[in-house]
Amino acid sequence: MPIQVPQAESLKDMFSLKGKVVIVTGASGPRGIGIEAARGCAEMGADLAITYSSRPDGAKKNCEDLTKEYGVKVKAYKCNVGEWSECEKLVSDVIKDFGKIDAFIANAGATADSGVIDGSKEDWDRVIQTDLNGTAYCAKAVGAHFRERGTGSLVITASMSGLIANFPQEQTSYNVAKAGCIHMAKSLANEWRDFARVNSVSPGYIDTGLSDFVDEKTQKLWLDMIPMNRNGLAKELKGAYVYLASDASTYTTGANIVIDGGYTCR
Ligand code: NDP
Repeated sequence: MPIQVPQAESLKDMFSLKGKVVIVTGASGPRGIGIEAARGCAEMGADLAITYSSRPDGAKKNCEDLTKEYGVKVKAYKCNVGEWSECEKLVSDVIKDFGKIDAFIANAGATADSGVIDGSKEDWDRVIQTDLNGTAYCAKAVGAHFRERGTGSLVITASMSGLIANFPQEQTSYNVAKAGCIHMAKSLANEWRDFARVNSVSPGYIDTGLSDFVDEKTQKLWLDMIPMNRNGLAKELKGAYVYLASDASTYTTGANIVIDGGYTCR
């Protein structure tokens, strides 16, 4: 049975998120991908639930800024995505507070610069638990709601590291988790074909603070490998999130949108 055929004719209406409710996990950073995805959705009229894990103050400030800037309803929730019960609670709390969920942007993620041999088991487990299992827990929690409503959009933040092995950092756990995220979107697109769309966004090096700890020599090596010769800005991703959350993408499912300044095109 066909789902979600576009109701709007104009491009502006297709991209509009007025009347829609969007969850963005991992939106507590001051300049992260999550807050920019949320900003894009707010700009297009969505009400928002944003989550944090360890930075309640960051999430609170992001809520205040979005409400002030766009006049939409925004609320912050604590959710460790690596805990199934917290993902389940997030979804039920948001449904209680907002009435429904139209799109879920599973963006929370962590990384560790530690090789398989010398790195700790804790580092490996934390990255896999947050980036891979956490994404699956979020999908499981919201999927039932999408199925019940017969509509929904899940957008997963993967990474170009899911397409090519990151170099020269030793981030096998991260690469594996993000490759899993890309494939999770494709697999779920099939599984959920009757009621929801599932896609991923794979950013390249984005200037968000996540890689501030990387030394200058490595940063220079990165830049030399990026055809556009610069890191991306988080705001350069928000259009992709809005597209995938909105009715502009009603025929897009199982896709992986790569935004990496050309890094993976070689
Ligand atoms: P941020 O640090 O701004 O975002 C990471 C977010 O994930 C934070 O809000 C953090 O919450 C949250 N988080 C971390 N661990 C958990 C957890 N266990 N449960 C719930 N939330 C958690 O960095 P980015 O914006 O760079 O990262 C956002 C996403 O983009 C990640 O998935 C990352 O892997 C991905 N990405 C980033 C790239 C980059 O170059 N920056 C490139 C490709 C992908 P809190 O701070 O409150 O703990």
